[in-house]
Amino acid sequence: MSYLWPTVEEQWGRTGMSKIISIKRDLKTILGLVILGISMLGLGMLLASTVKDIQLMNDGKAEAKRWARSLINGPADATDAFNNQSFFLKQSGSVSRVFVFDVFDKNGNLFHSTGLSDWHPSEQISDLLNSPVTLNRRDKKQLTVQLHAGEGDTPTTNYASVAIPLYSASGYIGSIIAIVDQAEQARYLTQSFQIIVGILLLIAIGIPSVLVIFRTREQVKAEERVRYLSGHDELTGLPNRSSFNAHLSEALDACLETDKHLAVVIIDIDRFKQINDALGHNAGDTVLRRVTAVLNSNIRENGFAARIGSDQFALTLSAFQRREQAAVFVATLSDALSEPLWVNGEQITCAVSLGGAVAPVDADDASTLMRQANLALGCAKAEGGKTFKFFEQGMDTAFISRHERENDLRRALDADQFELAYQPQVDCEREEICGYEALLRWNHPRDGSISPAIFIPMAEETELIVPIGEWVLRRACQEAAAWPKPLKVAVNLSPVQFKPGNIVALVKEILEETGLEPNRLEVEITESLLISSTGKVAEYLDGLRDLGVSIAMDDFGTGYSSLSYISCFPFNKIKIDKSFVQSMTKDTAILSIVKCIIAMGSSLGVTIVAEGVETAEQNRILRSMGCQLVQGYIYGRPVSGAKCKKRIGKPLKITPLKQTKAPKALSAA
Ligand code: C2E
Ligand code: CA
Ligand code: CA
Repeated sequence: MSYLWPTVEEQWGRTGMSKIISIKRDLKTILGLVILGISMLGLGMLLASTVKDIQLMNDGKAEAKRWARSLINGPADATDAFNNQSFFLKQSGSVSRVFVFDVFDKNGNLFHSTGLSDWHPSEQISDLLNSPVTLNRRDKKQLTVQLHAGEGDTPTTNYASVAIPLYSASGYIGSIIAIVDQAEQARYLTQSFQIIVGILLLIAIGIPSVLVIFRTREQVKAEERVRYLSGHDELTGLPNRSSFNAHLSEALDACLETDKHLAVVIIDIDRFKQINDALGHNAGDTVLRRVTAVLNSNIRENGFAARIGSDQFALTLSAFQRREQAAVFVATLSDALSEPLWVNGEQITCAVSLGGAVAPVDADDASTLMRQANLALGCAKAEGGKTFKFFEQGMDTAFISRHERENDLRRALDADQFELAYQPQVDCEREEICGYEALLRWNHPRDGSISPAIFIPMAEETELIVPIGEWVLRRACQEAAAWPKPLKVAVNLSPVQFKPGNIVALVKEILEETGLEPNRLEVEITESLLISSTGKVAEYLDGLRDLGVSIAMDDFGTGYSSLSYISCFPFNKIKIDKSFVQSMTKDTAILSIVKCIIAMGSSLGVTIVAEGVETAEQNRILRSMGCQLVQGYIYGRPVSGAKCKKRIGKPLKITPLKQTKAPKALSAA
């Protein structure tokens, strides 16, 4: 099973679960709607039957009225007509829905009958006659027809009984009770109401049902997405830190049950911030996606990868027998991850550092394992990145937890644990030391000397570099003031030291306080300062230059836009990074780059310093190409202020490290 992405089965499994949940919810809602619909149907039928009865009653009355009107419109005199029984007899055959009628005289005695008693018992008949709720009609022939719609009117679905009082000019002469056949009407109304109720029911249940089903589906989808995001990183689609932790403890349990090993590897992208700053966040995203793609294609059945931080990934590798097997895999992975990639039309090399630990050899619990992998990563980083390390005993003491280290760093300044080491810079033409670079050292009371490569980034993140950097400046200027003129001192300035905005004032104050001439101080800045800061930086650099301090661009060539900055900021010096110096004897392309930098320096009138010069070969090549200053172990490692002072004035000592074979192209250099 692949842990990297959910497998097809897992995906289907999850979708299937959601579908079941969705169907369950839909069924519940639909059941609710059916119950609601049935209740509504009952109510609708009750309402329809009431409306139908009222309708039938009104219709019965209208029909009886129509019949009565035609009845009384016939004879010339209503009284005569009333007295003439044969007249009523004739009416029984007339075309109407009145199929039965009885005529009563003014005393309520039956005068003419067509069989009403078959339809109504006699008490109902007298009730009908005595319910005088009237409705006036136009009287054409001295006869008023009044329709009774009182309580006595009890229409049924099949017939309606209507009492019609008859008046002549002389007054009330009698009544007719007519029964109207409503069977056809009732059938028609029943059918109509059934159709209407059906349609209403369909609308009442159907539309909400569709809406509810739709909404439930959307809700399930949203919940699925939330669940996915809570366990995954949105950009890369990889599981996130919490998913990784959950997986790690499971994988660890499984590993402890077998005699197999489990490795945890933490991957950190080297100088990721610089990529983001120099090339934009889209470029950073591209790099992260590329790392993800490499992890996806390399890790299969026995691996699980996650993104656990902005530029950190973690993976587990299970089911291997020996640490070396994991190491081989990690080495391959490291190579694949460090291959150049194209971002915004530019090819960049984005290296990674990896640190790993193996269970159960190193530890058998998740948190210790992660801590050890982090320590190993710290070691890899301390070696300059682009490398991998597995945890080894002893790393614990050399790299204690970051948290503790930070706390120690906070106390270090007050505890006077910092010291400066000075490394000479040699003028190639005059063959003499022209100045020293001040390099910070931390003498930890327990762990001994800690590399600035480890604590400077930490000091920058915590901004402790601001007071620490101030201490460095002050101490370097104090010590350099005691050196013979015109020896210079170069001090490294972190971009973070520019943040408070008082750097020019601070340098001025320190120079005045220590009495060091401004032209004997040089500040070294890196490209990251120019990238990360706004237009203010140019102002600060101009301010420093106005004081008489010189400015050097450090680590030239390691950034992403080094060339574009040297044209914007008039540096006094450019320091070629030691990685170029050390590779130029093995790689003719690098050699050409170094040559170009030196040529560019001389055309711009900028002094070029080559850093990290170790061998006589490197020294010779650099000089032959016209490099003005060199710095490196060949002329001395960084030494304490006291030792440095003692050596000043002594003849230049050359201690080459090892000889490397120069490529053929060197003869042309
Ligand atoms: P950097 O400014 O590039 O300093 C040069 C580094 O290269 C120093 O490492 C130095 O010891 C080392 N180095 C010099 N010559 C050679 C050589 O021939 N071969 C090799 N392999 N290395 C050589 P270090 O002292 O460990 O400093 C590392 C980095 O820490 C410095 O790199 C600098 O970026 C930073 N750093 C040191 N001190 C300070 C400081 O006071 N402030 C700030 N902001 N950063 C500092
Ligand atoms: Ca430097
Ligand atoms: Ca440097």
